[in-house]
Amino acid sequence: MKNKSKLKIADLGEFGFISWFSPAFTKNLPPQLTGIGDDCAVIPWRGTKRLLVTTDLLIDGVHFLKDKILPADLGYKSLAVNLSDIAAMGGTPRWAFLSAAIPPETEMTWLKAFFSGWRHLSSRTEVYLLGGDTTRSHNNLVINVVVLGEAQEKLIKYRSGARPGDLVAVTGNLGDSEGGLRLILQNSRKHQLTSREKYLIRRHYLPRPQLEEGQFLAHQPEVRAMMDISDGIDSDLRRIMESSGCGVKINLENLPVSPALRHCCRKYGWNLEEVAAAGGEDYCLLLTVNPKNFSTLAARFYRRFGRRLRAIGTITANRGKLVYLKENRLVKLKKTGYDHFSLRSKP
Ligand code: ADP
Ligand code: MG
Repeated sequence: MKNKSKLKIADLGEFGFISWFSPAFTKNLPPQLTGIGDDCAVIPWRGTKRLLVTTDLLIDGVHFLKDKILPADLGYKSLAVNLSDIAAMGGTPRWAFLSAAIPPETEMTWLKAFFSGWRHLSSRTEVYLLGGDTTRSHNNLVINVVVLGEAQEKLIKYRSGARPGDLVAVTGNLGDSEGGLRLILQNSRKHQLTSREKYLIRRHYLPRPQLEEGQFLAHQPEVRAMMDISDGIDSDLRRIMESSGCGVKINLENLPVSPALRHCCRKYGWNLEEVAAAGGEDYCLLLTVNPKNFSTLAARFYRRFGRRLRAIGTITANRGKLVYLKENRLVKLKKTGYDHFSLRSKP
């Protein structure tokens, strides 16, 4: 056991740290207030409406590489990752605040492109930028975004709603963003990118927040828990297990993967299942569904979005246990989901 005075945050990990400090702030909250622990905070507001609030921090060298990402893509992505958290609760995003610590040598053309990328998404989603803060940074570019949204109280989906027997489902392909990130990091050799590779890189830089899907699923009573996939299902499923007090069984052969990712895994020798299960930043939705209603829900989802809602596993009563099966055999993954303080660092 480590000497307590020498314990570092890296020993706890990101999620160990959050569960260490948060109980003091989550107990004794006034009724109907949801604080730390879900994709958004939920605040009573205007009768049956609820205000949703989410924030994300993006730092050069940790979440992106300023020398590699196009400024317009960074502007888009800074807003997109926050909208994804509103989608995860089934809400509608409305207002944003943008704070930035900017190195003084940053060129105005770069900043102009950043805002054009932001506006591309904000005008499409009708999210108004209402404020923020600006300061000089002596080191890296730091961006913090806060987004506020709204939802009807009864429709909000939390991470805590999963029950044993529920089917676990996802609304999109897994691992594309991780594949794109790997290509960005290995492409110093400047080889000509194929169209499949460009597709994966686009999926990393320009994730689409699944707002319509989130709102549609929020209206379905058979959907019991929902969150967005930001750290990879391996990590994100653990958040559902903690909040719902359950376990999960995942069938690896059911993870939906794109033909582009499949191709690149073969070409570069990546382990497809590990990329799909442990890779982060796909920003599609992860949900649990009453098994009795899954097939009708999946059919309606298909009619509405033209894509399959994919069942990838089952919620179990085996509290805290996440197991992977392949052809009904237990398998262990070498890579696990993203944690900011784990040794595997990003980007
Ligand atoms: P997400 O990936 O959906 O943005 P996170 O995994 O980053 O969520 O965070 C999990 C929960 O912990 C969220 O409710 C978030 O608001 C909360 N949280 C994370 N860091 C802090 C912090 N430093 N102070 C207060 N709450 C935090
Ligand atoms: Mg989230």
